[in-house]
Amino acid sequence: MDCIFCAIIVGAAEASFVHQDDDVVAFMDLNPVTPGHLLVIPRRHAVGLADLDEAAGAAVWRVAHRLGRVVRHDGVNLFLADGVAAGQEVFHVHLHVVPRYKGDGFKLVVKPGRPTRAELDAMAESIRDALG
Ligand code: AMP
Ligand code: ZN
Repeated sequence: MDCIFCAIIVGAAEASFVHQDDDVVAFMDLNPVTPGHLLVIPRRHAVGLADLDEAAGAAVWRVAHRLGRVVRHDGVNLFLADGVAAGQEVFHVHLHVVPRYKGDGFKLVVKPGRPTRAELDAMAESIRDALG
């Protein structure tokens, strides 16, 4: 089986589960960014948002929301990487739930600089058009 998360779902690879239902499973990340780092995944294989059924996405969110409340320490991040450019390394869509601790040092590095309102408006218009 070439998808490690599908292997986890069928019991062919080990995982430390915190939740399992008909649509979603959640387990401990093998290389936690912080203690308590979880992954929430749909049972049905999807690579990313493009092939993820909206109901499955909502089911993933529901479980991540609940788990986020449970593992939140000083804060919590919910994070999804779709595509290599976004940092995706496992190509079975997953939502990270990362408890945050003051001073834990985890951060996204953001390029400084702010677009103009006209640029934001133009971008908003093209996204609205794409939404249909
Ligand atoms: P991403 O970069 O968003 O694709 O994240 C993939 C995540 O999956 C990383 O945080 C890895 O530590 C985690 N991971 C990879 N293989 C396993 C595994 N067998 N069990 C649990 N977590 C895993
Ligand atoms: Zn899979």
